[in-house]
Amino acid sequence: MDQEMIEIRLKGGPKNGEPLSILADQESIELPFETHLSMGVDGTILICRGQLVSNWFLAKASVYRKQVRAADEPEYTFVANREIVRCAALSRRGQQCQGEAIRGALCCPAHAEQQPAADLVRNPCLLKELREIAAESCAA
Ligand SMILES: [Zn+2]
Repeated sequence: MDQEMIEIRLKGGPKNGEPLSILADQESIELPFETHLSMGVDGTILICRGQLVSNWFLAKASVYRKQVRAADEPEYTFVANREIVRCAALSRRGQQCQGEAIRGALCCPAHAEQQPAADLVRNPCLLKELREIAAESCAA
């Protein structure tokens, strides 16, 4: 069964005034920035554009929340830009975990207690460095 789609217009933030087609019952929406950061196995940080690449590491998104006014179409108002850091731990198959890191940390809750598997986790400056690069190069 198809879910109902509605046309909305975003209010405030980096996407102010932009029209968007979304599912009718969404309370909030997250719109990814056009650029994000990825990291190669050798630690090279790359600035990527468009769809998230498989080895993405830090992305940002603009959060909009539904605001219903009586007898009106719902309005989606800008809340904040959100930083998403991917868990740096490796799964048993040797692939980077798909989870989101705990705020300010490099691993997700499931991997926080575990011995860091990836070299990335052993570098305490990494997150700071990534944030600095993201602040300069990630565009909404
Ligand atoms: Zn994880």
